Amino acid sequence: MNIVLMGLPGAGKGTQAEKIVEKYGIPHISTGDMFRAAIKEGTELGLKAKSFMDNGDLVPDEVTIGIVGERLSKEDCNKGFLLDGFPRTVAQAEALENILADLGKKMNYVINIDVDKDILMERLTGRRICRECGATYHLVFNPPKEEGVCTRCGGELYQRADDNEETVQNRLDVNIKQTQPLLSYYEDKGYLKNINGQQDINLVFADIDELLGGLS
Ligand SMILES: [Zn+2]
Repeated sequence: MNIVLMGLPGAGKGTQAEKIVEKYGIPHISTGDMFRAAIKEGTELGLKAKSFMDNGDLVPDEVTIGIVGERLSKEDCNKGFLLDGFPRTVAQAEALENILADLGKKMNYVINIDVDKDILMERLTGRRICRECGATYHLVFNPPKEEGVCTRCGGELYQRADDNEETVQNRLDVNIKQTQPLLSYYEDKGYLKNINGQQDINLVFADIDELLGGLS
């Protein structure tokens, strides 16, 4: 089964990726891991990517696409793959179609873990950390006994700058804007499967499992 996994920050993509990989025994291919591996192996494309990264430049699409092609042609992808973090643009999605065609493969599903923005805001801005012992809490999912006070040591709780409303809102808006055309592209192709991410983690996976069960 050949799958692309999509979801906004806070949608629970990492958790679901782990569960899919564990159950179906296909490799989880994330962009970061792929780059690290290509650089470590010293492939021509890996070295090219490294030279851009060392200069603080973005790795151009043709290099990224080449690395994806190399990765998907490896033997462990014969049973399928779970792509995560690629493609990010319609141009990359079109390139992926070509890669798969060249390898005699085809896409099965693009799974999008769908969660409303206000719920993502709540998930992403709720984290609080203890100044004294570093314990982490979440206002909704794991609240301290007393507001603003660490249950473990009585220290003061604070919110990291990365987790504040404005930063999170901005991060989500950028992601939504970037993702929208890609979702439309995959919807037109008939690959897109939206999964309700606003339920218990195990129920989210049950929905994914039901979808993928039809493939094997
Ligand atoms: Zn504490």
